[in-house]
Amino acid sequence: NPTPEQLNHWQRHARSAFPALCRPRAANSHKGSHGTLALVGGCVGMSGALVLAGSAALKSGCGKVWLGFMQTALPLPVLPQQPEIMLATATDLAQRTDITACAVGCGMGTGAAAAAWLAALLAQADKPPLLLDADALNLLAVNPVWQHHLQQRHGDTLLTPHPAEAARLLQCSTQAIEANRPAAAQQLAARFRAWVVLKGRHTLITSPSGQISQNHSGNPGLATAGSGDVLTGIIGSLLVQGIPTAQAAIGGVWLHGTAADLLVAGGCGPIGLTAGELADAARWLRNRL
Ligand code: AMP
Ligand code: MG
Repeated sequence: NPTPEQLNHWQRHARSAFPALCRPRAANSHKGSHGTLALVGGCVGMSGALVLAGSAALKSGCGKVWLGFMQTALPLPVLPQQPEIMLATATDLAQRTDITACAVGCGMGTGAAAAAWLAALLAQADKPPLLLDADALNLLAVNPVWQHHLQQRHGDTLLTPHPAEAARLLQCSTQAIEANRPAAAQQLAARFRAWVVLKGRHTLITSPSGQISQNHSGNPGLATAGSGDVLTGIIGSLLVQGIPTAQAAIGGVWLHGTAADLLVAGGCGPIGLTAGELADAARWLRNRL
């Protein structure tokens, strides 16, 4: 557990930097008040990415979560693991009209089903807020038509690349991204008219107009499988809760990193920290902000 001073420091920072994240729930709220997040991805062998994101989304406070899998047979082991989550194939999920925001790419793969789904999604310019991560970014990187569709969107767009994904999008080397991270983040934001979360130590969050904010929470415990999927779930969850996009992106990155710091303070990392534990730590923390 953190020292009282540490907790106090986190509380003061969060309340001044992202107040919308720190507001208590209204006493008369219901699950519809807290938004519905759709997470799409999870090809065969990668179901866990979507489950991690969905679980993190629920534990970050959204009302409902749909998972849309890139598989015709739903991965039933998800049910005992997090029975609160609703399951669909990605194709069925595309028909629903009750989705507050959509986050795409976790464990999605880059196969034909993933490409078809992304094409359909990007053709709908006025869809709710859209977060693209992982394989959705890798697919986007090799398709100029989709890049054009993305630029034409009306709703908020968020991209959450790690440095290698950013390099694919900008068609340069990962070293070039790391050599000038602010420039890379701003280029991506300008090109896609999107919020860009350029991940890694001291993650940069850039607005579509190029305003940069640097995150200072987190530690190398985050360098583990599924860590980025949990971040996608957290940011998506904050978005559907009606938290302004800037606070959802900047606050979500901070919460994810601070959850890792909390786990390290409790001896659960940095070595051997697992991504699923981040969601529980983020929940503990958010309830104290
Ligand atoms: P991904 O590569 O998509 O799984 O995302 C990894 C997540 O862990 C991102 O949020 C990174 O910012 C974070 N991360 C990875 N390595 C570190 C590190 N050494 N220090 C701080 N955060 C890290
Ligand atoms: Mg990732």
